[in-house]
Parts: sequence; structure tokens; C-alpha cells
Amino acid sequence: MADQYTMQDPSVQYPKAGPEWKQKQEAPGIQQEMQPVPDCGEQSYRGTGRLIGRKAIVTGADSGIGRAVAIAFAREGADVVLSYLPEEEADAQQVVKLVQEAGRTAVAVPGDLQDEQYCQQLVNTAVEKLGGLDILANVAGMQQFVEDIADLTTEQFDATFKTNVYSLFWICKAAIPHMKPGSTIINTSSIQAYKPSPILLDYATTKSAINTFSKALAGQVASKGIRVNVVAPGPVWTPLQVSGGQPQEKLAQFGEQTPLGRPGQPVEMAPAYVYLASPESSYVSGETLNANGGTPTP
Ligand code: NAD
Ligand code: MG
Repeated sequence: MADQYTMQDPSVQYPKAGPEWKQKQEAPGIQQEMQPVPDCGEQSYRGTGRLIGRKAIVTGADSGIGRAVAIAFAREGADVVLSYLPEEEADAQQVVKLVQEAGRTAVAVPGDLQDEQYCQQLVNTAVEKLGGLDILANVAGMQQFVEDIADLTTEQFDATFKTNVYSLFWICKAAIPHMKPGSTIINTSSIQAYKPSPILLDYATTKSAINTFSKALAGQVASKGIRVNVVAPGPVWTPLQVSGGQPQEKLAQFGEQTPLGRPGQPVEMAPAYVYLASPESSYVSGETLNANGGTPTP
């Protein structure tokens, strides 16, 4: 079985989208109902002990990129607190099992990141159940396309900012007092921060805010020995995209416009998070690592 160390042609490593990729779910979407099911590394990510004994929180850990990150962290030797929405329990339980099969502790903490108290509870649970916290991977996010600003409601604008930006503020604020020197925070931006789609006005704006928030926070906590970095994915095949993230007709060509000519799979994002979480990246902070199929970024 090929893993992330097998040399192969990245342009054909995973399939291109096609008409059969058109599908629709209600947000937040359930990954196991997608066709094709995204590759989050269940069979294809091999750990090599890069995070042994570390204690991590991963948000959005049930599906997509967060699920790939949770699997990778566990296989690299970390115990993981998993955040997700209660309606995603079926996907989350699969991740709990995968983390346990890697020989690590999984603590499931379902809840709504738009709620500051839940964000605090998430951190407190990690500190209590794992005995500390030294990796925080904020991966959760909400994306709902709206074609015309006239139809973009204040409720949606607010929910997108609460989920994507306020939750980072709340979780980081709660987490930092518990983090020892050597701890790391990894936030999740997007190619949308630099090349915004007209139909993702609110979402793209939050992703730009996440880059700036992370640079400012990195400067603030450097003297505490804590590093803050960002991963900015390009088009990756996840429930976010099929549950209101993109119009149906765009899913058939999803990822085609990238230089590599295909969508990414969540497992291809995981090594970026592992690198930024581990001391291998000890001199890297305030950085955004773009994993987007080759699209140039500023
Ligand atoms: P995904 O749907 O698998 O993951 C998003 C997760 O966010 C959900 O599983 C859910 O658990 C969580 N979430 C959403 N709203 C929440 C709330 N109110 N409370 C708690 N949890 C909530 O999709 P994904 O594409 O893997 O998304 C992960 C991250 O990657 C997001 O930040 C997204 O913006 C970013 N991203 C994705 C792409 C892409 O093409 N898929 C591209 C760039 C950036
Ligand atoms: Mg999900």
C-alpha cells in the first residue's frame, strides 16, 4: 500500500473530479455519505514517531482535513481531543476508533464553536483528560456560498465569523495559559484569503483575518516559546464543499483550475500540520504554508 513517502506523480496521484461528483447534503454534511469518500489517510498515512507523547486538540476532527490531522497526529504518537458538531457523531466515532487503533487516547467533545463557553470547555477537557495541552490545531470552519451580497444575511455573516474567527480567539485565549515552551498552534486559512471567489464574500474575508490573526499572535507569544502557524489549503474534497460550500455545477470541475489539475485529498494536508506541530519547524512562526496544488500566492 502506498503512503505519503511513496514516490509518485502528484498530478495523477488522486482522481480528477467529474459529473458524478455532483452531490448535495445539508451542512455540516456527513463524510461517509459522500461519493467518492475522501481519503483522510485511514489506509494511506504512516506515522514515524514525530509527535510521541504530545497532547493535542483538533477541531473539525470528524471529517475532511481535521479528520486527516487527527489520524496523522495519533499515528505520530499524540493523544487527541476531538471537537465537532453533535450531528457529526457518526463520522466522529470512526475517528475515535482510528485514534484508539493507533494506540493513543481519543477524547470526543462535541459542541458548537460559536459558543465561547464550549471553546473554553474544550481546552479544559484537554488539560484534565490528557494532562496538558501542547498542540492546538484549529481546523473547523464554515463555508456557505451566496451569489449576491443582497442575499447574504447578517445571521450568516455573523455565523461565519463566529465559527471561523471568534472561535480561534476564544480557544487560543483559553489554551495559551496552559501551553509550555515548545507548544504549537496551527490555524487553517485558505487560498480564498488571496484569490477570493465572488460567491464566498464572508468566508474569504474570514480566511484573510485568520492569516493576520496568526501573524499577530505569533509575535505576541514567541517570548513564551509558543509558535503559531497556518496551513492554507486549496480545493480539497471534503463535506464542506458538498454541503453548501460550492454550487453543484462547480463540483464536477472541482480543483481542475489548479496547476496540478485535480482536487487535493484531506490526507495530503496532514503532513503540513504535523511539520508545523513538531519541533522540526522550530524556527518557523507566523508563517502560512500553502498546500493548494501549485497556485502561486503572495
Ligand atoms: P469539513 O466539513 O470536513 O470540516 C469542517 C468541520 O468544521 C466540520 O466537520 C465541523 O466539525 C466543523 N464545524 C463547522 N461549524 C462548526 C461549529 N459551529 N462548531 C463546531 N464545529 C464546527 O471540511 P474541510 O474542508 O475539511 O474544512 C476544514 C477546514 O479547511 C476549514 O477551516 C475550511 O475553511 C478549510 N479549507 C478547506 C478547503 C477545501 O477545499 N475543503 C480549502 C481551504 C480551506
Ligand atoms: Mg464534518
